[in-house]
Amino acid sequence: MKQELRAIRGMNDVAPPASARWQRLEKRVAEVLAAYGYQQIRLPIVEATGVFERSIGDTTDIVQKEMYTFADRNGDSLTLRPEGTAGCVRAVLEHGLLHQQPHLRLWYAGPMFRHERPQKGRYRQFHQMGAEAYGMAGPDIDAEIILLTARLWRALGLDNLRLELNTLGIAAERESYRTALTAYFRTHVALLDEESRLRLDRNPLRILDSKNPALRPVLDAAPRLVDHLGAESRTHFDAVCACLTAAGIDFVVNPLLVRGLDYYGKTVFEWITNELGAQGTVCAGGRYDGLVELMGGRPTPAIGFAMGIERLVELLAQHDEDTVTDAEICVVGASETEMQSALLLAESLRDALPAARTLCVLGGGSMKSLMKRADRSGARYALIIGGDELASDTVTVKPLRGEGDQQRVARSALAATLATLLAD
Ligand code: ATP
Ligand code: MG
Repeated sequence: MKQELRAIRGMNDVAPPASARWQRLEKRVAEVLAAYGYQQIRLPIVEATGVFERSIGDTTDIVQKEMYTFADRNGDSLTLRPEGTAGCVRAVLEHGLLHQQPHLRLWYAGPMFRHERPQKGRYRQFHQMGAEAYGMAGPDIDAEIILLTARLWRALGLDNLRLELNTLGIAAERESYRTALTAYFRTHVALLDEESRLRLDRNPLRILDSKNPALRPVLDAAPRLVDHLGAESRTHFDAVCACLTAAGIDFVVNPLLVRGLDYYGKTVFEWITNELGAQGTVCAGGRYDGLVELMGGRPTPAIGFAMGIERLVELLAQHDEDTVTDAEICVVGASETEMQSALLLAESLRDALPAARTLCVLGGGSMKSLMKRADRSGARYALIIGGDELASDTVTVKPLRGEGDQQRVARSALAATLATLLAD
């Protein structure tokens, strides 16, 4: 194939049979979200660049080097969304959704775009499903949203994820911590790698998030944010932990967990697996109480999370087989009139038996080759329409998987007969 007609590196197709796994995952996640009262919001993939620059923070990796930003034909700077929260807040404010529902729970799903180095579990177009809860300041919603994610893994049959939790305090506490942390790293600058040295000025908290194992000792000995927390932040975090413990959710508090976006404060969490190599975080979230106001709304507490669908699908693929959903009924007619009759019969069966998957073997060929294709389709029954059947207003029902004998059935009785056969 011509090079210029290939997909962009890091932007993947999801073809069958893998797409069936995506569908199952998306369906189950949507069901769990609905069970907690979350309503779907559908957002544009492109936003004005400012939507992300303002919210995500201009010293973050995303804004500094990962956004797909381009000039629209009329010169406006637009960006392919790198995440869902900023656009969601933009939409909530634009439509005044918080006036109608001050305690608002929303979810979204779709592609996100970041110009990262493509590798397993890290792509340039990837997909997230995420949820956001607005207007609830207390630790109860933090706990509920984490319980929701725990239920998601149960619904998906994943039992190999661990929960890490931390608190980032409020802005003033982070500021005091930042000063202490910067001073500490400056005295140990020789031990830092190049990336961390760059972060020292821009975003020292992010150094804690480094995945470089050589940095472990210097990070482990670094000052802890917990020592800069005020009473309110501590109480909030303790209450979240207590609620999770009461609900029987295991977690570890990881003081190095900081998250890569500026808008987070107080509770942050990640669900991580060891089964995906380096890209083990499948779900990440936290509280972002300052963002709604920052984006022009009234001060509104908020919390949310996003999960990486590719990583979850990969995890599911390690635990179950690809299942192809075969047709159940296959309709076959060879001549032009038989074929037309087959098409119309299939239509009427889809009316009568909407849950049955009915496939027409189209594309022409002899009855023999059509029957071969019917067999390969995996369907349980072939409905054959030949000259005799046309003349007698009947259909031959032929089991393709060895379930009983072939029989001739009157058209008027066909739907009922098939319903009985398929129910077995
Ligand atoms: P990481 O530390 O892996 O770069 P992040 O902190 O940038 O993650 P978030 O912005 O919190 O990630 O996104 C939430 C989730 O989306 C991640 O936990 C991950 O599962 C998924 N995700 C993020 N970036 C990518 C990507 N480039 N490719 C695939 N999935 C991704
Ligand atoms: Mg990232």
